Amino acid sequence: MIQQLDELTALPFALPDIGDAEIAEVVDTLQSGWLTTGPKTRKFEQDFADRIGVKHALAVNSATAGLHLSLEACGIKRGDKVLTTTMTFTATAEVIRYFGADPVFVDIDPATFNMDVAAVRAILENTTGIKAIMPVHFAGEACDMDPLLKLADQHGLKVIEDAAHALPTTYKGRMIGTLGDATVYSFYVTKTLATGEGGMVVTNDDEMAARIKIMRLHGISKDVFDRYQLSDKPTWHYDVVNPGFKYNMTDIAASIGLHQLQKIDRFASRREQIANAYGEAFKDLPVRCPKNSRPDDQHAWHLYVLRLDLEKLSIDRNRFIELMNERKIGTSVHFIPLHLQSYWSNKYDLKPQDFPVASKTFECIVSLPIYTKMRDDDVARVIDAVKTILKDATI
Ligand SMILES: *Cc1c(COP(=O)(O)O)cnc(C)c1O
Repeated sequence: MIQQLDELTALPFALPDIGDAEIAEVVDTLQSGWLTTGPKTRKFEQDFADRIGVKHALAVNSATAGLHLSLEACGIKRGDKVLTTTMTFTATAEVIRYFGADPVFVDIDPATFNMDVAAVRAILENTTGIKAIMPVHFAGEACDMDPLLKLADQHGLKVIEDAAHALPTTYKGRMIGTLGDATVYSFYVTKTLATGEGGMVVTNDDEMAARIKIMRLHGISKDVFDRYQLSDKPTWHYDVVNPGFKYNMTDIAASIGLHQLQKIDRFASRREQIANAYGEAFKDLPVRCPKNSRPDDQHAWHLYVLRLDLEKLSIDRNRFIELMNERKIGTSVHFIPLHLQSYWSNKYDLKPQDFPVASKTFECIVSLPIYTKMRDDDVARVIDAVKTILKDATI
């Protein structure tokens, strides 16, 4: 048995899917000499805006940067509050602290792990100083945006969507990216469009777009590329209008993004196929499989988060992960809720019982591999491992 395991190759939790077109485009960029923000980034932005169906797409070097810039363009200040979910990566909340503003965390819906709309409503009715709301489309499934947008409107809040998982995702026939004031995507290596590091902010708001464009590159009123274009001003001229940031995307990253963007629908349908195979295979096991709760919507299936029914099992989630590791299958946990992380719990005196759904959910979730480089036999291997482990552990 041990020997057999040694012979197994590792199946990683996630892998990017980089093709020859991406590689050729990067080589072309390297040979062109224009390595930083330039023509490839312009084209990536234009293609991205067209694909989402939005006026402005602004490339940045991470989603974290894009979220920071979006809040900055909303005028978030020290002492303001921003509402977001506890079931997210720390980046969503850390950018609020960049301003000296404070996140207000909300518990999740037990079915989707998206923010609980009723809880959002209750918080908004009982809290002063909230300026914006940051929904996170968990795993690639859209939050229930209609009631959230209505609440934001009633309370005069900006809506900045964390769409790090949500490309491509739709909500009631509308593309995520066209709904809130600004929407931010991540192109981190594990995401559904990967450039290694990178991100995109999309918005229909001309003023926000103009502000983000300036602030992503040192608060300079023209960006590097424009500086070298012909205009009535001399080419060396630029003006610093604010102390901005260094958040621009390189043309090397954009070269990868251009070609990844053309594949996002094909990628999504492969991930959906894997999700369906898992759902079918696990239906009689003591687990709850994630499902697309509005079947007419496009779910991006960035993550496949299985919920173990611990009451029917003799093992806990951590042991399940160990047993998957023994079979050399990578897994992960999305997420350790923010209220259980030292910084956030200490800073805001947050207790597990303040977020009962997220706290309980955390104990029993595990993310399985779901990516386009998985072959059918990789999917079968994950299915076989999960079935064997859980059948052996069923009480
Ligand atoms: C990955 C991720 C981010 C951060 O993305 P970067 O591009 O690495 O900055 C933000 N929010 C969520 C929900 C994520 O999963």
